[in-house]
Amino acid sequence: MAKLKAVVATKNEKKMAELIAAFDGLDIDIVPLSSFEETADPVEDGATFEENAVIKAKYYAERLGVPAIADDSGLTIEKLGGAPGIYSARYCGHHGSDDENNAYMVKEMQRIGAADSPAAYECALAFVNRSDGTILTSHGRISGEITLIPRGQGGFGYDPYFYLDNGRTMAELTPEEKDAVSHRGEAIRAMRSLLEKYLKS
Ligand code: IMP
Repeated sequence: MAKLKAVVATKNEKKMAELIAAFDGLDIDIVPLSSFEETADPVEDGATFEENAVIKAKYYAERLGVPAIADDSGLTIEKLGGAPGIYSARYCGHHGSDDENNAYMVKEMQRIGAADSPAAYECALAFVNRSDGTILTSHGRISGEITLIPRGQGGFGYDPYFYLDNGRTMAELTPEEKDAVSHRGEAIRAMRSLLEKYLKS
């Protein structure tokens, strides 16, 4: 039987490289979005990370005619009622840079008079194959604390403000250390094992 081909439905180069590497060795050819003609972005109007990941995977699977893998992730801050959540990439009011979103997050914390708050990163992954109706989803989560004192140069997004139990921020971890504990690492490992079973069935 021909090897199954699946597209990684993200325009983020870092995520794409990470996801392609994560599924290395599986009996599936993972190809980037850039190997297809440019398509409009899907409307991410789900209420949860998982719904948005499925929306994206379904959209690209339908448009491109091959199975698709998509992810959705973000930060939830307890004292901000779970914000920015699914709006993490556009917290500042538009699809902003990390600096713009971080500045807005700090402003929101200051507005409610909070210097810190319990928080979590979450990540959902979805695999959709329209030819047999398969939808696989996985999820990862890591708890931590947001403070208003940034530290570290690694990672991206809110990482300099996200403190782990060991007192280091996510931005102070090496990529390997981050991968071992992160929401995305956990979701990727779970998806890899779901795909392994699926490809054998
Ligand atoms: P997505 O591309 O819609 O999944 O956007 C996720 C957004 O959540 C990113 O733009 C970041 O703001 C935030 N985010 C998700 N994962 C991480 C992470 O590992 N570190 C820092 N910020 C993250």
